[in-house]
Amino acid sequence: MTPAELAAQLHHLRRALRPTFFLGGVLVALVEVTILAATFRAYPLNRYDPNALTWYVVSSFACCVPILVWYLMLRQLLARFAPKCERCGHAVTLLERDRILSTGRCPKCGSAIVAVGSNGA
Ligand SMILES: [Zn+2]
Repeated sequence: MTPAELAAQLHHLRRALRPTFFLGGVLVALVEVTILAATFRAYPLNRYDPNALTWYVVSSFACCVPILVWYLMLRQLLARFAPKCERCGHAVTLLERDRILSTGRCPKCGSAIVAVGSNGA
């Protein structure tokens, strides 16, 4: 793989991840606010209720579900669109781009991914 091919694949990965990252983040935040608002409306902090602690714990776990779904969607997109090391299958992320382009090696196994010194043509 040439540096230009790696950069093109990472650009494609970024375009695939961006809508899910930002729209998913907004959706997750809205769901979290809705869950917490409903919980604290039903069980306000200033009023004693023996069931309140149970519902606080339940709503905390309920808040984890949208985050988990969002994370799994991002992981799935990463697995689908990210360039991979041919030796170990490591999916290259955008954060590893500069290191891989400078060394040409997989950050996980150290095998050559990019032909360093090629002009990308
Ligand atoms: Zn590797």
